[in-house]
Parts: sequence; C-alpha cells; structure tokens
Amino acid sequence: MPSAFISHPDCMRHEMGQCHPECPERLGAINDQLLISGYLNFMNEYDAPLASIEELSRAHSALYVKELIAQSPQEGYALVDPDTKMNPHTLNAALRAAGSAVFATDLVLNGQASNAFCCVRPPGHHAEQNAAMGFCFFNNVAVGIRHALDVRGIEKIALIDFDVHHGNGSENIFKGDSRVLMCSIFEKDLYPFTGEYLPDQNMINIGLPTRSKGDVFREAVEQHWIPALEAFQPQMIYISAGFDAHREDDMGNLGLVEADYEWVTKKIVEIANKYSEGRIVSCLEGGYVLSPLARSVVAHIKVLIGAD
Ligand SMILES: [Zn+2]
Repeated sequence: MPSAFISHPDCMRHEMGQCHPECPERLGAINDQLLISGYLNFMNEYDAPLASIEELSRAHSALYVKELIAQSPQEGYALVDPDTKMNPHTLNAALRAAGSAVFATDLVLNGQASNAFCCVRPPGHHAEQNAAMGFCFFNNVAVGIRHALDVRGIEKIALIDFDVHHGNGSENIFKGDSRVLMCSIFEKDLYPFTGEYLPDQNMINIGLPTRSKGDVFREAVEQHWIPALEAFQPQMIYISAGFDAHREDDMGNLGLVEADYEWVTKKIVEIANKYSEGRIVSCLEGGYVLSPLARSVVAHIKVLIGAD
C-alpha cells in the first residue's frame, strides 16, 4: 500500500517577513528535491483539509484557539511572539497544517495509506496548550495524536521528536498523559531552553552537547529511545520531523547528515512494524537551510516508502 504525502498550497502563503528563516521557500525546496528523486510516484498525494475548532481544542484550550483566530490580521502582520507573526494567510496555513495530521491519522487508521508524511508549515512542536511560540501556532502532531486517542480509540502512542530544538509544546500538552510516550533528542542549552528536567515519566528527553555528530545521536537512540519504545509497545507512532540538526543548518549546532535521518527513520519503521502495524504519521517541523532540509526530507521519505 502506498504512503501518503499531504500538503496544501495555502501552506506557502504564510510568511513572516523578509529574511525570516521559516519561509515558504522551504516547501518549494522539498518539492523540487522530491520531484528529482521520483519518490512522489510511489506516494498518494492529498490536499490537507482545514482542522476544525473541535479538533484543535483536543490539544489546545478553546480560549487559546478563539483568541488566535481573533488575532488574524486583514493586512500586515500580527505579532504573537517575538519570532512568530501572522499575515492574512497564516491562519489558513496553520489550520491546514493541523488538519493534515488529523487527515493523515485517518488515512493510516483506515488502511488507505501505510504511513504518511505531512509536508506542511507552519510547524507545530513549540506551540503549547495556551501559547504560540517559536514559529508555531497549533501543535500539528498533538492535534493528530489527540484525534487518534480520543476519536479513533487508539490507546498507546509514541511521539518521536528529532528536531534540534526541544518540543516544549508537545511536552506541555502530553506531560502526565500516560497514553503517550514522548521520545525527544535535541541540542542542550538551545532554544527553547527546556527539556533538561524530566517533567514526567512519559517523557524520554535526551539533550546532546553542542557539536555532537551522528555517532552520539545514534547511541542516544539505541540506549534511550529503543528500550523505552520496546517496553511501551505503541499502537501508532508520530514523528515531529525537524531537520535542523543537520550539520549544514545554522539554526542549531549538531552535526547530523542525511544518512543519520535515514538511519533513525529505519529504526522507527522497525518499531512500527513490530508493534504498530507499521502505522506512522510524520509531520515536518524545522529545517531552515534549503538544500540540506530538502535532501534530509528525501532521505526520510525514502525509508517511509520502503525504497531504502
Ligand atoms: Zn527546530
């Protein structure tokens, strides 16, 4: 069965001003590299639907959702955090990004896709229950996970986050929710400066020292993630797929390369095949230098479609 590739042109209409690293060109670069790879021929492409208020409110407070919608500007920008602003198209893009995770969940659980990659922006993993931050408005992966848990009756979900930044928003939403095991590897002492203290038993947080390379990353996966995932036996796996730990990405200071993203995706697929009937929903998070971002996404998708 083919993998799903979910995106929407609206995701390229959100922009936060000239020179902002979280730019529409990110999706263009990924699309170009995917076309060159030929991998899209092995995936079913879908347009991301808009998330509903009800779907968003499973991960965010209803008040936050209402207030963010009210902040959407008719023209110009509305600043919601020092790094994060809305243009007149941001709300639609954010609703599509969150909606993609819900849609991907249904495709995978209905048996219409073996797994799914949501090629969307804005990203989501810094968005907390009650706050937009770090280029994120709605926590896309969290909205998808709560849909799987609360609507589709899945009981145990693993959330894997390999973005160079700690997913403080996902941690804020899922801490203490024993249905979710969050496994995170990120660079220590980097924005958002969270994740160093274990907030609950369902969080496996591994902060890597600055300038760590793939060998250190792989060892952390083998030592910390895999045993926790084996013990938890998730019925479904979500990935916060950020590619800014790449050595060519200057948003962080880790030294991963495409082969590391291919390797970690294989590890996740192995766990998914063992416990989760192969069910994976992967959502794009960070990755800001266009060429390494696009090459890394292709390495990730290569494994998801089984072309490795
Ligand atoms: Zn990041």
